[in-house]
This record gives sequence, C-alpha cells and structure tokens, in this order.
Amino acid sequence: MANINTSIAELVGKTPLLELTNYEKNHNLKAKILVKLEYFNPNQSVKDRIALAMIEDAEKKGLLKPGYTVVETTSGNTGIGLAAIAAAKGYKFRVYIQDNVSQERFQVIRAFGGEPIKLSTVPVIAEVLEETNGDFVAAIGALREKVLAKEENIFFVDQTANPANPGVHEATTGPEIWNDTDGNVDILVANVGTGGTVSGTGKFLKSKNPDIKVVAIQPGPNSIPSEANPEPEEITGVHPFEGVPAERVPSTMDLNVYDEKVEVETIEAFRAAREVAKSDGILIGTSSGAAIHAATRLAERPENEGKTIVAILPDTGLRYLSTNLFNEEYQG
Ligand code: PMP
Repeated sequence: MANINTSIAELVGKTPLLELTNYEKNHNLKAKILVKLEYFNPNQSVKDRIALAMIEDAEKKGLLKPGYTVVETTSGNTGIGLAAIAAAKGYKFRVYIQDNVSQERFQVIRAFGGEPIKLSTVPVIAEVLEETNGDFVAAIGALREKVLAKEENIFFVDQTANPANPGVHEATTGPEIWNDTDGNVDILVANVGTGGTVSGTGKFLKSKNPDIKVVAIQPGPNSIPSEANPEPEEITGVHPFEGVPAERVPSTMDLNVYDEKVEVETIEAFRAAREVAKSDGILIGTSSGAAIHAATRLAERPENEGKTIVAILPDTGLRYLSTNLFNEEYQG
C-alpha cells in the first residue's frame, strides 16, 4: 500500500511520546517521565496544530475565503505555522510583530511568502506604543480596532481568543496522549502561553479520568520583567497567568483546568534542555526545558512514586541557536 500525503495539513499532529529513560536513571527517579515531542510537526512546533485548526475552522464558518489574507500578530511558532499552512492552502499571510523579534523569524515568514510588518512602522500603532511605553497588549488592541476593523477580505486569526486553539488540543493532543499510554497517565505538565495546550489537553484527559492531575507552568519571579530587572531572560512563549490582571489572561486559558501551578526560572529551563540533549539526544526549546524541569520536581515527590507524568514539549531547540539556551557558559 502506498503511503503518500498530499498536503502538509496531513502531517500535523500524531507526535510521538518518548520516555526519558537515561534522564530518569541519572536522576534516580521513581516516576516515569514521558515527553510528547511536538517538534515532529511539519514546522517543528505544537503551533502547527492550532494554525491548521484555526484556518480550517474559519473556512468552515465562511470567515476565510479564496483570495483572503490571513492576519496574525505573532512571529513566534504560531506565525510560522500559519505562514506555512496559508502558503499550502493558497492564502496570503501577513503578520505584525514586535521590533525585538530576531532576524531568523523574519526570514522564515518571508520564506513562506508571508509579509512580516513591524508594529512600530504602522503610524496609528506607533502612537499607541509611544503613549503606553511600548505596551504590546494595548498596541494589538489598537491594531484590531483602528486598522484591521477597516479592512476587507482578511481573516484575523487571534490565537489568544480563538476557541479552535484549545479545541484542537481537546480533539487531538489529549486523545493522542490517552491512546498512546493506554490511559496510563497520572499527571499532565504543560506550559501556558495562550493556554490553549493546557486547557484543551487537560480538559480531554480529565473527561477520561477526573483523577488525572493537570500541572501548569508559570515563569518564576526572576524570569518575569520587574522594576528591578526590566529585561530578564524569559521563557519564550510562556506567560504568567496567576497574579496578573484578569484582562491579561487570554480567553483561551481555562483557569479552572489546572490543579497545580509550578514556577520555573529560565535558567532551570535552560539547564534541563541542555541536559536531555546530552542524556537522551533530543534538542528542544526553552519552554520544553521548563516542562522537563517541572516534571522532574513532580517525579521527585514521594507521593508520585510509580506514577506516569506526561510533559508536552512545544518546539525544537534549533529555533534558539541565537539565544543563550545552549551556551553552557551562560548560567543565569
Ligand atoms: N512554548 C512555546 C515555544 C510557545 O511558542 C508557546 C505558545 N506561545 C507555548 C509554549 C505555550 O503554548 P500555549 O499557547 O498553547 O499555551
């Protein structure tokens, strides 16, 4: 039987679970750590799932039609996933990004035929950025109301408010974990950016077994900007969801889904990622390192002896070669 795919859409999801057997031994862990390797997606991150789901959902609802431009406001993994899916489906793609975004991100978006635009180069937005001292959330609000609302033939994806984001994790990521473990999973560990991953996956797993514990990762206090430390090294794509104003928490984050929050500092995430590259041969990004660090802390607890912990690893370490992630001299 031939086994040929005809669109990258068919290559999204169905990512493998890997037990970190060497790492477990090195740490003398009495619980299993299984990692879900989202870098197996066609554009190397978990965001390929939502890129495809949000585009196909919009097509079904008639919000996205041939000739339209797909618009989003992140050049992170979601921007890259959308650029690729839009290309494969024949849509134009435009992304608004912050000025400090790396050159690589620009290049990748352009390679897919997408158009990256710096927010500060849009006059109305430049004003808002100046008035609010560079507040990204305010800038995006203004972009939506003052720029995008006036345009026709565009579809504004908005991953932070799009129900297809948690929806696809409930429909695919959760069932994959359940099936691949034969339902033998005790704890789920996931990062929170938009919250889509933890909300959808957690909801599905709890619907199968309400005793499954869902653990959400929040950046530690030294890894979030503060007055004393305005530009700390941050965990890419991961944001605080507790202790921040409600309007700063995306509607895609279900604050009722998690049982526990674990705080991880960026340097701890770096160290975990550096370690598993050497012990088990996987090259993963910063938030993946954070997930492994949190999973390790959970595995060390006496009450978790014999349990199975599944940690979702969002992306590949190849996307971070220009950062300090694999620079061993950098120790925080
Ligand atoms: N890690 C990385 C690298 C990401 O880009 C994101 C998304 N911003 C996350 C983790 C968090 O995923 P989610 O948006 O589903 O909460």
